[in-house]
Amino acid sequence: MPTLRTPAQLCEHGLAPPEHRAALKAVAARYAVALPPTLAALIDRQDPRDPIARQFVPSAAELDHKPEELSDPIGDDAHSPVAGIVHRYPDRVLLKLTHVCAVYCRFCFRREMVGPDKPNALAPAALAAALDYIRGRPEIWEVILTGGDPLVLSARRLRAVMKSLERIDHVKVVRIHTRVPIADPARITGDLVRAMKIKGKPTYVAVHVNNARELTAEARAACAALADAGMPLLAQSVLLAGVNDTPEVLGELMRALVECRIKPYYLHHGDLAPGTAHLRTDIATGQHVMRALHGRLSGLCQPTYVLDIPGGHGKSPIGPNYLERTGINGSEHVVIEDFNGQRHHYPPRD
Ligand code: SF4
Repeated sequence: MPTLRTPAQLCEHGLAPPEHRAALKAVAARYAVALPPTLAALIDRQDPRDPIARQFVPSAAELDHKPEELSDPIGDDAHSPVAGIVHRYPDRVLLKLTHVCAVYCRFCFRREMVGPDKPNALAPAALAAALDYIRGRPEIWEVILTGGDPLVLSARRLRAVMKSLERIDHVKVVRIHTRVPIADPARITGDLVRAMKIKGKPTYVAVHVNNARELTAEARAACAALADAGMPLLAQSVLLAGVNDTPEVLGELMRALVECRIKPYYLHHGDLAPGTAHLRTDIATGQHVMRALHGRLSGLCQPTYVLDIPGGHGKSPIGPNYLERTGINGSEHVVIEDFNGQRHHYPPRD
C-alpha cells in the first residue's frame, strides 16, 4: 500500500466512508493528508473510535473552527527573527528545516504551516542566514531541529546541517523532534543514524508517540537503533480525546515507552489549533489522568503535563497541584498530598 494522500484513497482502502468524501475533500484542501502504510495497517476498520484513525484520518469535524482557535496557536511567528528560526527562550532555538512530515497528525499545532504545498525546505540562502543567526548568539546552548519533520530529509542534507552545528562552539546540545521512527521506521537507516550524530555533543531525539499501539515491532527496532547509537531518547505525547485520555491507556503508553528506552518528557495539553476541538480534552481531564499515574507508575514513566500558552509565552506545567501553602505563626508551612490522596503537614506537626 502506498502512503494515502487523498480522500479517494482513504475511501478506497476502507478508512473513510464514501459518503464523507466531499467533506473530506474540503478538509484536505486546507490541511495536508498523509497516512503511511505502517500506520494505516494498525487501524481497526470496524472500530469507529479507533485511536490510530482518530489521530491520522481526516474528519469532517476539522471544518468546525471554534472562535478561540488560532492559526499559530503557540505563537511561533512572534518569535521568528529570521526564516526557519524560532527563538522563544533565551538559551535555545528551534531550527525548522522543512515543512514536510511523514504523516500529518489531525491535531497538529503547526497544521497551517506544514504540508507538501508549503515551501519544501529552507532554501540554501535562508539556511545559511539561520545558521548565521545561531553563530552570532553565544547564549544559544541548544538547537532543536523540528519542522515539519527533520528526519524526512536525506542523510546527506541532515549531515550537512549537523556538521554546521558541530562547528559552532557555544552550541552544546542538538535535539531532533520527529515522528519518523513511528510513521516510517524504514527511514531509520544506518546512514541516517550516522548523519544525526556529531562529535563532542549529544544528539537527543524526542519521539512523538500518543498511543502504545504506535510502538510496533518496526517502530521499536527503529528506536532501538537510535538508542544503540548512543542517542538519548525522549517522548513527547499530546493528550487527545479518545486516544490516550484515560489513566489505563496513558499508563500503558508510558510504560511501553520506558521499556523501549524512551523517557517520557512532556504530555502536552492539546493546542488551540483550528478544527481540533473534537480531539481536545479539558485541563481537568489531564490533571485527573496525571494524578492517577502519580505513585502508581514508576517515576521513569511520569511526563510533565504542560500547556503551551497561546501567543508565544512558552510552556508551563499545569499540574495537578499537590501543595498548599499555609502560614503558621508567620513561618512557612505547607500541606502536601500523597499519591493516596492523604494530606500531610510539612514540616510535620506534633
Ligand atoms: S509530525 Fe509533528 S509537525 Fe508533522 S503533522 Fe504531526 S505533529 Fe505536526
